Amino acid sequence: MSSHTTFRVGGPAEYYVRPKRTQVAEIIALCQTYDIPWLVIGNGSNLLVGDGGIEGLVLEFGQEAAQVTAEGNVITAQAGAPLFAVARKAAEHSLTGMEFASGIPGTIGGAVVMNAGAYGGEMSQIVRKVTVLTPEGIEKELSLEELDFGYRHSSIPVHHYIVLDVELLLQPGDVRQIEERMAELRSQRSKKQPLEYPSAGSTFKRPEGYFAGKLIEDAGLRGYRVGDAQVSEKHCGFVINRGQAAAADIRQLISDVQKQVENQFGVKLDTEVRFLGEFNKI
Ligand SMILES: Cc1cc2nc3c(=O)[nH]c(=O)nc-3n(C[C@H](O)[C@H](O)[C@H](O)COP(=O)(O)OP(=O)(O)OC[C@H]3O[C@@H](n4cnc5c(N)ncnc54)[C@H](O)[C@@H]3O)c2cc1C
Repeated sequence: MSSHTTFRVGGPAEYYVRPKRTQVAEIIALCQTYDIPWLVIGNGSNLLVGDGGIEGLVLEFGQEAAQVTAEGNVITAQAGAPLFAVARKAAEHSLTGMEFASGIPGTIGGAVVMNAGAYGGEMSQIVRKVTVLTPEGIEKELSLEELDFGYRHSSIPVHHYIVLDVELLLQPGDVRQIEERMAELRSQRSKKQPLEYPSAGSTFKRPEGYFAGKLIEDAGLRGYRVGDAQVSEKHCGFVINRGQAAAADIRQLISDVQKQVENQFGVKLDTEVRFLGEFNKI
C-alpha cells in the first residue's frame, strides 16, 4: 500500500483492484459471495495504512473511474476524478465555487466522504447530490440532508456506502479570476505546507477554539521525531515521512503528540487521518 498512499507507508493488500465505475457492483458482489472483506480508497491522501498490510480487498477509485462532465452550472464527476481535474473543468466552463479544493490532493469521492475543506470552503457548500452503492449492491442517490455533512464528516462511512458519482452545483464566474484564485491558493500551500515530504496533510482535526499546529508547537514538539516520522518544522500540524518511516513510527509519533498536548493543555487531539489495516502484524 506504500505506493497507493501519500504517506508512502503501509504493507501489502491481499487483493487490489482499480475498476471502472461499471465493474464496482460486480466486485462487491464477488467479495460477498466469497466472504472477502473489502474497503474503498481514493488517492490515499488521508490514510495511514499499517505495516502489516490489509486483509481482504482494496478497491481504488482511480483514473478508470474519473470522468468529469459539465452542463450549465452543474459538474458531474465519477468518484475517482482528482479534485484538481474537477476544478480545472469548472474553470474551463467559467464556474466558480470549487477553487478552494483545487490544491487538495484527493479524489472527489474521498473529498465528499471527508467533507474536505480549505480556505473557508468545504465540499458541503457545493455538493448537490451523491450517487452511492449500498453494501446490498443497490445504487442510491443521497440528498444533502442524508449526507449529514459536518466538520470533516459525512454519513457515507457510517452506512458503508461507496461513492460512485458526485454532482456539484457551482456559480457562473470569470475564468481569469477563477484561475488567479487557484494559483494564489497553490502558492499559499507551497509556502506554508511541507509538500516536499510524504504526508497525509493535516494529521489532526481542529479542536474547537484552538489550532492543532499551534498547540503542538507550544508543547515544544516542532521537529519531534520517532525514527523517520517527524512533526514538520515548517507546519506543526503536519506529520511527515522523512524517507524511511514505518507506519508504526508514525502511529507512535501521533500518540506521543496527543499525550503531550493533552498533558500540557488539557486538549484532546483527534486524528483527521484515517487508520487502516494491521499495525502489529508484520
Ligand atoms: C499535502 C496534503 C494537503 C492536504 N490538504 C487538505 C486540505 O486542505 N483540506 C482537507 O480537507 N484535506 C486535505 N488533505 C487530506 C486529503 O487530501 C483529503 O481528505 C482528501 O479529500 C482525501 O481524498 P482521497 O481520495 O485521497 O481519499 P482517501 O485518503 O483514499 O480516503 C479517505 C477516506 O475516504 C474513503 N473513501 C475514499 N473514496 C471513497 C469512495 N469512492 N467511496 C467511499 N469511501 C471512500 C476511504 O475509505 C477513507 O475512509 C491533504 C492531504 C495532503 C497529503
